[in-house]
Amino acid sequence: CGIVGYVGNQDALDVVLNGLRRLEYRGYDSAGVAVLADGGLAAEKKAGKLANLEKELGERPLPESSCGLGHTRWATHGPPTDANAHPHLDNPGRVAVVHNGIIENFARLRAELTDRGHELSSQTDTEVVAHLLSESYGECGDLAAAMREVCGRLEGAFTLVAVHADQPDVVVGARRNSPLVVGVGEGEAFLASDVAAFIAHTREAIELGQDQVVELTRAGVSVTGFDGEPAEVRAYHVDWDASA
Ligand code: GLU
Repeated sequence: CGIVGYVGNQDALDVVLNGLRRLEYRGYDSAGVAVLADGGLAAEKKAGKLANLEKELGERPLPESSCGLGHTRWATHGPPTDANAHPHLDNPGRVAVVHNGIIENFARLRAELTDRGHELSSQTDTEVVAHLLSESYGECGDLAAAMREVCGRLEGAFTLVAVHADQPDVVVGARRNSPLVVGVGEGEAFLASDVAAFIAHTREAIELGQDQVVELTRAGVSVTGFDGEPAEVRAYHVDWDASA
């Protein structure tokens, strides 16, 4: 339902939670976050309102980080439980992914993953993406390339945002038939399902086109098609008043 990703010099968890709060108006049934820190990945997710997640984070804080992502879920596959909330991780938890939309061919992909020995722990259509990204990353060693490869195998409508513990300064996003916008700041970058999530930080935005992948680092943003071809970047300035 709502997606936020961040890399930069601010506290990632703060930026992500504030962004999710800005997207609360859309309605949701669960929320979760993941951050990259100390060579690893740490995540927390809870059914219910953001306040539930924040209470949990108060009791069991995540490590400080400058790179992370978050999600508010509107369940389509699997009931709104902690396990079905996003982010979804691979096993042993090096990749985290959040997703809006529906992966139509997830049942087949799930069966193939199970045959290859993967153990899935949720009832969502989303979790297959974490495991596919993990496999693909194992072959190419680059999250953006893995995302392009995996998206080529997905059917349906999706906005995906992912991080990998091996690339602690990178956030990758992708979209097909579902919106994703990039916010470009000074030494920082944002990804969100709606500009409202990052408007407090920057008004320089890029709208991701159909079947495109974006890679965010502190140094900037690069956009390619699912086919790997560099894409034309559609930059614009958000000039509406977001204080309302
Ligand atoms: N289909 C996914 C799920 O049920 C994502 C739902 C959403 O867009 O929030 O978990």
